[in-house]
Amino acid sequence: MDISHLYQTLIAQIEVLCTHVKSIHGDSIVCRAGCDECCVNFTIGAGEFAALKGKILNLPECSANKDRGSCFFLKSGLCSIYEFRPVICRTHGLPVRFAVDDGSVEYSSCGKNSPITMNESNTIDIDSINEKLAILNMLALKENPALKERYYLYEIFEQAN
Ligand code: SF4
Repeated sequence: MDISHLYQTLIAQIEVLCTHVKSIHGDSIVCRAGCDECCVNFTIGAGEFAALKGKILNLPECSANKDRGSCFFLKSGLCSIYEFRPVICRTHGLPVRFAVDDGSVEYSSCGKNSPITMNESNTIDIDSINEKLAILNMLALKENPALKERYYLYEIFEQAN
């Protein structure tokens, strides 16, 4: 099973979704280069880790930030692995929807965006993306049982050294 190919297919789908949602909301979305408030020290699943590790390690100058409060790959306010940033970085801040415990749907968007009306047709379905990532994780763990369920992004470097 080619985890990397499956992951790239998912990324291509997510990019289409993100572009679509951004085009609907236009200037109301304020995500811009230089805004790094989303860039915290978060984790990714085994599937993303397996798919991204080699690509990120091959990038020159991709690490700088030793402050574990923010993302390891944040460099002077910019993402040093932008081409290979994980799924969460692609959708974070954009208008999204997801189910909550009582079965209802909640909507969310970066507080810096202009107030926007969110509905099913102008938001990204985060649950659907997470389901696909869960399948990718399952496949990666089946292929390599030594993988952990989740990794901090900085572990890509720690495990290489
Ligand atoms: S990988 Fe890039 S976009 Fe994602 S949190 Fe880190 S610096 Fe920010």
